[in-house]
Amino acid sequence: MKSCGVSLASTTSSFRDDGKKMAAGKESSECKDGSLSLTAEEKEVLGGLDSRLFGFVRLHEDGARTKTLLGKAVRYYESLILKAEGKVESDFFCQLGHFNLLLEDYPKALSAYQRYHNLQSDYWKNATFLYGLGLVYFYYNAFHWAIKAFQEVLYVDPGFCRAKEIHLRLGLMFKVNTDYESSLKHFRLALIDCNPCTLSSVEIQFHIAHLYETQQKYHFAKEAYEQLLQTENLPAQVKATVLQQLGWMHHNVDLLGDKATKESYAIQYLQKSLEADPNSGLSWYFLGRCYSSIGKVQDAFISYRQSIDKSEASADTWCSIGVLYQQQNQPMDALQAYICAVQLDHGHTAAWMDLGTLYESCHQPQDAIKCYLNATRGKNCSNTSSLAGRIKFLQASKAHHPKTEPVLGLCQTPILQQSLPLHMIHSNQVDGLSNSAERKRTSSPTKHLEQLRANKDHLSPAQKLMLEQLETQLVLMQQVLHKGQSSHMSGPNDEQPPFSTGPAQYLQAASVGVQKQTGPQTLPSNSVTQGAALNHLSSHIATSGGQQGINFTKENKPSGNRSLVPEISRHAGDTPNGCVVVKGLSNHIQQLIAEPVGSPNHGDCTSPDLLISDSPQISATNIGKASDKASNNHPPIHTKTNNSVTSSPSSIIFTTTSSTKSTAQTTTHSVTSLNSPQNNLYKINREELQSLQSSAKPNLPIISLESGPQIIPSMSVSIYSSSTEVLKACRNLGKNGLSNSHIFLEKCPPPTPPTSPYPPLPKDKLNPPTPSIYLENKRDAFFPPLHQFCTNPKNPVTVIRGLAGALKLDLGLFSTKTLVEANNEHVVEVRTQLLQPADENWDPTGTKKIWHCESNRSHTTIAKYAQYQASSFQESLREENEKRMQHKECSDNESTSSDFSGKRRKGPFKTIKFGTNIDLSDDKKWKLQLHELTKLPAFVRVVSAGNLLSHLGHTILGMNTVQLYMKVPGSRTPGHQENNNFCSVNINIGPGDCEWFVVPEDYWGVLNDFCEKNNLNFLMSSWWPNLEELYEANVPVYRFIQRPGDLVWINAGTVHWVQAVGWCNNIAWNVGPLTACQYKLAVERYEWNKLQSVKSLVPMVHLSWNMARNIKVSDPKLFEMIKYCLLKILKQCQTLREALTAAGKEVIWHGRTNDEPAHYCNICEVEVFDLLFVTNESNSQKTYIVHCQDCARKTSGNLDNFVVLEQYKMEDLMQVYEQFTLAPSISSSSS
Ligand SMILES: [Zn+2]
Repeated sequence: MKSCGVSLASTTSSFRDDGKKMAAGKESSECKDGSLSLTAEEKEVLGGLDSRLFGFVRLHEDGARTKTLLGKAVRYYESLILKAEGKVESDFFCQLGHFNLLLEDYPKALSAYQRYHNLQSDYWKNATFLYGLGLVYFYYNAFHWAIKAFQEVLYVDPGFCRAKEIHLRLGLMFKVNTDYESSLKHFRLALIDCNPCTLSSVEIQFHIAHLYETQQKYHFAKEAYEQLLQTENLPAQVKATVLQQLGWMHHNVDLLGDKATKESYAIQYLQKSLEADPNSGLSWYFLGRCYSSIGKVQDAFISYRQSIDKSEASADTWCSIGVLYQQQNQPMDALQAYICAVQLDHGHTAAWMDLGTLYESCHQPQDAIKCYLNATRGKNCSNTSSLAGRIKFLQASKAHHPKTEPVLGLCQTPILQQSLPLHMIHSNQVDGLSNSAERKRTSSPTKHLEQLRANKDHLSPAQKLMLEQLETQLVLMQQVLHKGQSSHMSGPNDEQPPFSTGPAQYLQAASVGVQKQTGPQTLPSNSVTQGAALNHLSSHIATSGGQQGINFTKENKPSGNRSLVPEISRHAGDTPNGCVVVKGLSNHIQQLIAEPVGSPNHGDCTSPDLLISDSPQISATNIGKASDKASNNHPPIHTKTNNSVTSSPSSIIFTTTSSTKSTAQTTTHSVTSLNSPQNNLYKINREELQSLQSSAKPNLPIISLESGPQIIPSMSVSIYSSSTEVLKACRNLGKNGLSNSHIFLEKCPPPTPPTSPYPPLPKDKLNPPTPSIYLENKRDAFFPPLHQFCTNPKNPVTVIRGLAGALKLDLGLFSTKTLVEANNEHVVEVRTQLLQPADENWDPTGTKKIWHCESNRSHTTIAKYAQYQASSFQESLREENEKRMQHKECSDNESTSSDFSGKRRKGPFKTIKFGTNIDLSDDKKWKLQLHELTKLPAFVRVVSAGNLLSHLGHTILGMNTVQLYMKVPGSRTPGHQENNNFCSVNINIGPGDCEWFVVPEDYWGVLNDFCEKNNLNFLMSSWWPNLEELYEANVPVYRFIQRPGDLVWINAGTVHWVQAVGWCNNIAWNVGPLTACQYKLAVERYEWNKLQSVKSLVPMVHLSWNMARNIKVSDPKLFEMIKYCLLKILKQCQTLREALTAAGKEVIWHGRTNDEPAHYCNICEVEVFDLLFVTNESNSQKTYIVHCQDCARKTSGNLDNFVVLEQYKMEDLMQVYEQFTLAPSISSSSS
């Protein structure tokens, strides 16, 4: 891969040298027939221009020549394509895409890239194409597609020269998508990379700080901002923005101190921010809000006024001004200010609310109702129900007081007919505001005053009051005017707001702003020209709250997330919350923040998905093949055909579990008490199992090597060629310098999640019975077909009933009592969760079902958790008793089934604690417990020869060691697949039950889509599937109860989620059966993790070599896959080694100790095998901080800061490869 540094430099220099020549040759290049041609030099220059230069070529002033050439090239290519009637090399389209991208002609770039994509089946090998495509998608806010394209670039070329730019943009997009963990990871990856990128490192640091703020990690945010301020030569704009954020955060966040201190800090920060950038309307606005909140009305007015002067009119500012006026008992001015606000933003809920309150205070319920109605229609109305209540109340009381004299916005009274006709401001009229703005200019308070004076004798008491007020105002206004126009600033003793002339004079400016704003919004949402005005480099800030948390009324929720900078809102026009702020970035970081975090309705900004779901329309309409791919990732969700509750899978299978049974777990488990799951289990006895054995063969995994992502491509001869041949073949390839390790291997296409299995299952097959096996004695447990049954890919899950009893396992060793006696100070990870109805997951307010599962982490000890567990049980018993008493008292036999699960009660939910991931790996501490588990049959044992995880040579906590879970009812293990798709074993200790939900492996792509749609990360987030949605998407869900002593076997790749029905403990670990299916799924997940930048806990490369050393494999399919992986790694090691040597980089022999764990890159967490890149410093300190080659190069281009340590001799690896041969099948005689 040609390095960008080189191509950038050569491009620039050739422009300088050949500029004149090119200019001279310009006329000659136009042929007589008007067709174009390019000179050799031009072609050479163009050859160095592709998507990687995006953001690095200047198109104005000194870059004008580039622009001219690109324009010419585009015309040239277009005419060529036209002449050839489209039948040209696909590369033409790719080039055309690049040129159009560099010219920022996005629609044309997209269309050219699409043509290329359609023509070139192995387009994924072309990193510059994927990068260009990602940039175009990014431009259109099609984040889903942009993320995919960018991830694929890094997958096919981890050393891509714009990796930093990609990480930056991934960080921004994940931030908008509220996937904060991923966002932080990518920002950090961007930050360590010393290559050039369109943002400076202080700007990236700023984004990290803002990310903390967005996550409400205010102390982290504060620290990060303050650290930024320490940076030497911090650019003024960055400084101003950082100070602005700090100021606003202090104003909003209670955690940062008592009110007085906070506000004083806030004001100091904002003042300093204004020193750095005196022209920030936003900082002035914030300052106004701070002053207002501490009662410095005068200063507040001055600040607001500055804000209006410095920036385009903002509804928030006007709304705040209105509040201030209203507090000063200047209803007329307040009225006008609010009207300015709603004119600028008709959906400004807060302004409508305040206006309503204002009308109410002036006894104009009719008008108040209108305002409240408008408020409910606002974008960010969060309290529709209380508003509706208020409206009802007003309507009712209106009937009692039919004749109130209107004071404000009078429609009946002739005097004020010219006044603000509130009812004129309806949504359909907002657009034509220039007229009403004109009218409003005549309706300033002075005008009113004149009118009122003229009608002095016929005024109502309210109007008289108003007249008095206006008279006073006039006096004050004259005082202000008298002080001279030179200074608007009132002195410290001047009590009067400088705005006392009312806001009318600003109306014109405001209405201009409105026109500007509304214009571009009339474009259709999927119009490709929509973002044409955008700067090519865009930045996205997830804003997480409205900034206008107006504190005038309690009901006044900030109206949300409209951006302050009109330019921004134009682009974000289609996103109701405007969460995404798009604008030119590199030099305008001060505009990066539309709305700082911290206002109360933090949670409102959760709809960037709207943005994304809108955006694929672009691709869907224009993108042909890509949209086919698209639909793969978005299986059509059928519209609800049946809304009735009974259509949900849950209610079909399950009637509610009786509460008494789930709470009083000490009673024996009557089979009938769990009617539905029970009926769904099919039982297999020994005879059946035996008969299964004969049919077991055809049922065994038939792993199609051709299907699915070709991570393990079907191998032909090459696996069997000797290692020396292989190495000879690749020896000559790596000579031309250091390059990334992927280049000389056959590339595999980036992995993609599987599409929903076709044909879809009929609805009656969506609640399959759970495969269950009842054991009666020890012999049953050790019966070999049991193993085959469990590992058969046809059975995503197997419940082995009565295992503990059959084996006489002493489960009491894992009871809470024994655990406390054994190790009471042992660490317990705690997940704080909401106690939800049995099979549903609601948002904390109980208003809608969501996928995101609240699960906050903390730590405690076994002793403390045990206490909690016990007291929770006691409390519940007491509650049960109380309920029983109540029932007796009311003797209402209708409601005897107490609804423990809270089916009817949707929040507020009780908080519960789940003690999880308790590490039982220490065999000194947990000797008895671990010994007891050796009684299990080999295939479920923690350690056994047939368990791949026993061949790692080191510990992976919780995978090849035991973990314990301590639960109270409702404790939830959210949805997941096991690490690297390994199998898992889970035994319920009791005394209570657990309920399991299980989805087969081949549906994980569907669940992944659901997660994406809900802005959740399938691999990293906590999510709880909505069963109705799964049913509609034809996803089968196994559902069953695990009783004490039952062992649940989760097969490779099975998706599952679990919740405790009663009080119980569980123990669990992972197992890797030696099957082709397990190995294939583990490797596939290894690759998917790599694409997703997620660490693979199982180092598959390391494991594959250990398998080759230690295990005899008789399954040809499994053998082929392992052998192929070894070959690939062998080639990689050899190639990299030779490249390093050729470049004069010494490879130092290091070797490895016996149980040395596999190594991971300290930066990107990818597994590093054999050749470790260790910083000089950590090498001399013997701390050996390992990097992968790509990350090493990002921090030190020529690797000067690194030593390369070698852990294996090539001869050794070659020998292992040679000696790994297919073992004769043991079972071949029987088949
Ligand atoms: Zn790395």
